[in-house]
Amino acid sequence: MRILMITLSLLALVGCAQVKAAHDDNFAIESLGDGIYVHHGVHLDIDEGYQGDICNASFIVGSKGVAVIDTGGSFKVGKQLHEAIRKVTPLPVLYVINTHVHPDHIYGNAAFLVDKPQFIGHDKLANAMELRHEAYAKLNARLLGADAQASELVKPTMTVKSTLALDLGDRKLTLTAHPVAHTNTDVSIIESKASTLFTGDLLFIERTPVLEGDIKGLITEIQKLKNSPAKQVVPGHGPVTKNWIVALDNEEHYLTVLLADIRASIKKGESMESAMNTAAASEKGKWVLFDIANRRNVNTIYPALEWE
Ligand SMILES: [Zn+2]
Repeated sequence: MRILMITLSLLALVGCAQVKAAHDDNFAIESLGDGIYVHHGVHLDIDEGYQGDICNASFIVGSKGVAVIDTGGSFKVGKQLHEAIRKVTPLPVLYVINTHVHPDHIYGNAAFLVDKPQFIGHDKLANAMELRHEAYAKLNARLLGADAQASELVKPTMTVKSTLALDLGDRKLTLTAHPVAHTNTDVSIIESKASTLFTGDLLFIERTPVLEGDIKGLITEIQKLKNSPAKQVVPGHGPVTKNWIVALDNEEHYLTVLLADIRASIKKGESMESAMNTAAASEKGKWVLFDIANRRNVNTIYPALEWE
């Protein structure tokens, strides 16, 4: 019942994102115009009814072919994305880009092997995938059941060390590899025709931001992203926005409060368990899935700050 209620409220949230174009069963695609399309996963936690479809998965149709940005968390989601692309264009899928290593963003890759695209990710992505391979396979088997089958791990065939330019014909994509922030494998992408920035999980909208990399690094990257020439932003999770400076400000505010509160707890000699209940509590009403994600963040950040 709880999951049903969460799902219903999330459907309401997704409804606000003005889903405009083609439907494939429940696989809705939002058209941003200029050949840019986004599928919005729902805001479910990995420990609460995770079904492999919780992040944004996008594709860009250029005059020469298609670039995909994140493929969802299972072969099934990747296949649905692939079918959605085929309803829009017969052009070849040239590039499949993963914004980082997290399982909700990468396990649809296998559905694109048939196109023989370049799979592209951060210089450190292949190694990060290798290190997590076993743990993620177990997680998928446990949480996705039958959908985990065929969700094989597909590693990058091309990597980004600093920046990489890709040509889709009528537009260019510029990929940037970031220093450790949300993870150690973060890549953002800007496309030149509509000035659309795809942040991966450097930016969360609605859903509580999480990180496993470095909170100070993430704050720095958020500040740098504010200098982008973007006209609109597709976050890793949540709705597309033209009001993206505000979205970056909101996330920076949450992280800054979280960092300050954890530092204050450590200074006062409070335990991590107690910090989990108090850190960034003032932000609680502003974000979806706050309790579970915020506790997880404290669990990640507190031990790293203890030795500052
Ligand atoms: Zn992530």
